[in-house]
Amino acid sequence: MATVVRRSREEIDLMRRAGRIVAEVLAAVEEAIKPGVTTAGLDAVAESHIRKAGARPSFKGYRGFPACICVSIDSEVVHGIPGKRVIEEGQVISIDAGAIWRGYHGDGARTFYVGTPPKDVDRLIRTTRLALMAGIAAAVPGNHIEDVSGAVEDVAVEGECGIVRPYVGHGIGTRMHEDLQIPNYRTGNRGIELVPGVCMAIEPMLTLGSADVETLGDGWTVVTADHSLAAHFEHTIAVTDNGPEILTTV
Ligand code: MG
Repeated sequence: MATVVRRSREEIDLMRRAGRIVAEVLAAVEEAIKPGVTTAGLDAVAESHIRKAGARPSFKGYRGFPACICVSIDSEVVHGIPGKRVIEEGQVISIDAGAIWRGYHGDGARTFYVGTPPKDVDRLIRTTRLALMAGIAAAVPGNHIEDVSGAVEDVAVEGECGIVRPYVGHGIGTRMHEDLQIPNYRTGNRGIELVPGVCMAIEPMLTLGSADVETLGDGWTVVTADHSLAAHFEHTIAVTDNGPEILTTV
């Protein structure tokens, strides 16, 4: 079982700053998502914001990843690499961003639709966001990891979405990925008890079809095996005496 890392108030202050920069990046990229823009163009918007804020991009160079954000389109679930691909009307665009402020990490993701989403896509995006919020709401002192996982799973099942299982939420702090794992489904293990100071990234990835995924030949891009659409929402949060605090927010 993972060791419980409890962050101090001062550490959480630094993570809140990193998280705020991530939230600002996601908002700036959302603003920039328009037909005709390349995914590399979105990455440039993100990098410029991170550097102007005095932070460092945590994704760039992470195990060789070449960009500051992941841009995953339609059946791509996560880890899409920005490049020459052009944004088009009717695409489902998932953006994942990370920033480091004075050694502390923030990690967040959101899914956008270019245009007005059809009903099923709206359900996918809304269900994924609600699943994240339900998981966060369960991140209170005294609960266990399994309570967070179960809360995410219940919303996903209610919304009739597939749950991608190989990728899970994680502890976060001085490293982007710390030991703690937060599955988006019940595992049958309660996991650690949540106590004030525990910081984690909760990140449901849901699909409109099968939950099976595979990795493309670029070694990064994760896609649904049946080409169904996917969505991804993520927040970095801190468990506090007053309940969960979302750190990736402005
Ligand atoms: Mg993450």
